[in-house]
Amino acid sequence: MKVHSSSVAKQTKRQHWVARWQLILFPSITLILLTGILIGGQFLRKQLQIQDKSLEVNLVRGVHDFNQLQREVNRLRLLIVANGRSANAQDLPLHLNLAQSRFTIIHRQHLSHNIDPQVATLKADFNQAWLSLEPKIQRWQLEPANTQLRTQIMDELGQLELDINQVSLLNQRQQWQLYQSQVRRRSHSSQLLSSIEILFCGFTLLMGYSLVQFIRTRQHLLEEVEQLATVDDVTQIANRRQFNTVFAQEWQRMVREQSCLSLLMCDVDCFKAYNDHYGHQAGDECLLQIAQTIDRCMRRPSDFAARYGGEEFVIILPHTHLSGAQTQANFIQAQIQKLALAHAQSSISDYVTISIGIACGIPRAALSANQIIKYADEALYQAKAQGRNRVCHYKF
Ligand code: GH3
Ligand code: MG
Ligand code: MG
Repeated sequence: MKVHSSSVAKQTKRQHWVARWQLILFPSITLILLTGILIGGQFLRKQLQIQDKSLEVNLVRGVHDFNQLQREVNRLRLLIVANGRSANAQDLPLHLNLAQSRFTIIHRQHLSHNIDPQVATLKADFNQAWLSLEPKIQRWQLEPANTQLRTQIMDELGQLELDINQVSLLNQRQQWQLYQSQVRRRSHSSQLLSSIEILFCGFTLLMGYSLVQFIRTRQHLLEEVEQLATVDDVTQIANRRQFNTVFAQEWQRMVREQSCLSLLMCDVDCFKAYNDHYGHQAGDECLLQIAQTIDRCMRRPSDFAARYGGEEFVIILPHTHLSGAQTQANFIQAQIQKLALAHAQSSISDYVTISIGIACGIPRAALSANQIIKYADEALYQAKAQGRNRVCHYKF
């Protein structure tokens, strides 16, 4: 019968409960952390991909803008060629403005990215050329007959187109290099992220596993402490402390249920002589065998055997009348005789025997559990007095 010993049991029971919850809690936390790490990693990786995409967009936009600018300048030149005289000269400011604004956009967008000083210089030159060209075109619009000015503008526009082409190519090359270096850096970041993820996952798993192992070990230790607190060292059956707890509980239960309770007190006959003759260690071995035999004789789940002290054992048989207790006592004696443990110094047999005193009755609140132990002791004394190796009883 498994009943915990009072204070130790209460404490260990609480700690078992805590450990059970920890065993649920820690793996759950580990799982949540792992999921968090994986989701976080995926999120960061997505961010890197978005940055890669925006770089690509920049690259394409840069090429597109330069092409646009080139087309704009080209159209401006064609317009001047086609309208040598002032016929459609009023269209020019519009194109001028378009080319100007596009140039401003490109200048603003790409100058900040420039790492190649050559591109920056070219852009500055280009800017300068554009600024000097603008007033010339405006002047030519006022005096369209000035062919010299027109030729000069045409030359400068041609040169500008070449410049744009050159800047565009350089810019493209530079942007591409920038793009590649950024992509390389992103791929390094991604690899680093994967390594950190693996490291964190491993660490979390290790932590979770260690914690679970730690809790298991602690639980195991608790069980051992419990065992030490309730089990007798020599005989490996319940000890006196455990008996006190169980007997108090059973006594209360039988008082409530008003059912018969039998208490058997067993004592090894002439055991001092056994010890003197065979030695203390053989005595211990003999006690172990007797205790184990008694324990094996317990049939019902609520039947309980313990070492009371020295060479005395006590048995609680709840819901058991005198006849049942006597049958059980005789059965135990027979089982011990079957062991055939030689006892050369016994005054009553060649083998080890035991005497049993039974206290039996329906517990009343007026009686105490201690009183019943006394009755069983009295019956045992009677058995000893009548010649040992027998069963006597006391009805209360
Ligand atoms: P009786 O038949 O009247 O019971 O005589 P007895 O010799 O068995 O009783 P007594 O009380 O005189 O002696 C009990 C002996 O049990 C004394 C002690 O040496 C021995 N004993 C008590 N506890 C242990 C133990 O743990 N190990 C061993 N080996 N012997 C024990
Ligand atoms: Mg004794
Ligand atoms: Mg004895």
